Amino acid sequence: MFEQAAKLRADGGGPVHDLSLGNPSLEPPPRFKRALHELLDDDEAGRHRYMTNAGFPEVRAFIAEREARRFDLPIGPEDITMTVGAAGGINVLLRSMLNAGDEVVVPVPYFTEYDHYIADAGGVLVKAASKPDFSLDVAAVVAQITPRTRLVLVTSPNNPSGAVYSEADLDALADALRKASEGRDTPIFAVEDSPYRDLMHDGSLAPSLMGRYDHCIHLTSHSKDLGLAGERIGYIVISPSAMGRRLLGRAFAFRNRVLGFVNAPALMQRMLPKVLGHDDGKVDVSIYARLCQTMAQGLTELGFAVVAPQAGFFLFPGLPDALRGEDGGDVKLTERLQGERTIVVPGTAFGVPGHIRLSMATTEQAVEGALKAFRAVCG
Ligand code: PLP
Repeated sequence: MFEQAAKLRADGGGPVHDLSLGNPSLEPPPRFKRALHELLDDDEAGRHRYMTNAGFPEVRAFIAEREARRFDLPIGPEDITMTVGAAGGINVLLRSMLNAGDEVVVPVPYFTEYDHYIADAGGVLVKAASKPDFSLDVAAVVAQITPRTRLVLVTSPNNPSGAVYSEADLDALADALRKASEGRDTPIFAVEDSPYRDLMHDGSLAPSLMGRYDHCIHLTSHSKDLGLAGERIGYIVISPSAMGRRLLGRAFAFRNRVLGFVNAPALMQRMLPKVLGHDDGKVDVSIYARLCQTMAQGLTELGFAVVAPQAGFFLFPGLPDALRGEDGGDVKLTERLQGERTIVVPGTAFGVPGHIRLSMATTEQAVEGALKAFRAVCG
């Protein structure tokens, strides 16, 4: 899709409405640049050297204190591993926790890179259905649990659907995992991948499994909420009640090292305490929310089934019946939209034919242009 958009751009045929990539369109907040200038002016020796593999102790302490407040849990610095984005964190975690053939249950739709991450770690991704509105279907998750299940990996707020799992559903999942773990030497671990958690459209705190389920590991990054996808900074938080808490922390630090990351970027780590928690240290999520609303309204008028996203910048609408062929029609629609210089991703890529994914990490003009293209194709 990325290459297709580049090709279209190069043909000189006018603007391209690229809604394919989740590449944050909002620039990092002003405080970020100021923090970097301050850090670059700091001449103390050793600021750019190797460090402990889990990250700078003072940064881990800062993050631990914030996460402890957020989740109301006694999280300490030793529970934090600074990572190379959320993707680095997930790979560190999977390589630390999976034995060959271990199963990872993942609700559909999901971030498609999981297929590769899990396979690379020797695991097997097992798909679980979600409800039609993309909320968590706990019974469907439970139905996929076998003696080989090692992890349940949930993404909330979700990419691609924008769904945020409710407190009630997370409670139900926690109960189900406790039950399914009875009699096992090692419980099933829950992994919560949450890089969109601070892009809730209504400004609320995204509900979490942390504190609901003992054996939970939470991951996030600042790729999206600070617009720093290219700078690669994130972290893993181990629940203080997780079995093997200390061993897990050591395993994550070890994997950070031997996967070749060695540690998360030093400058980005030291930037975080200067930026997080300040009013001018956030992107304006209302811009993403507004673009989501404009697109949702336009598509609803054309007969698409749109579940309004509660967070982030993705929409995952279902096609109107008239556009659904036997195969869901999403690939064909994607091709027809390309003819109108509009790039979207077919739901088939996420294992959900009959849907398309649209990224609102873009401009108002691109949204308006794309809606025109939709009207031309579907009208
Ligand atoms: N997890 C999910 C659900 C994502 O959508 C993404 C990026 O799109 C990532 C992880 C990777 O994020 P990062 O850029 O922080 O590695």
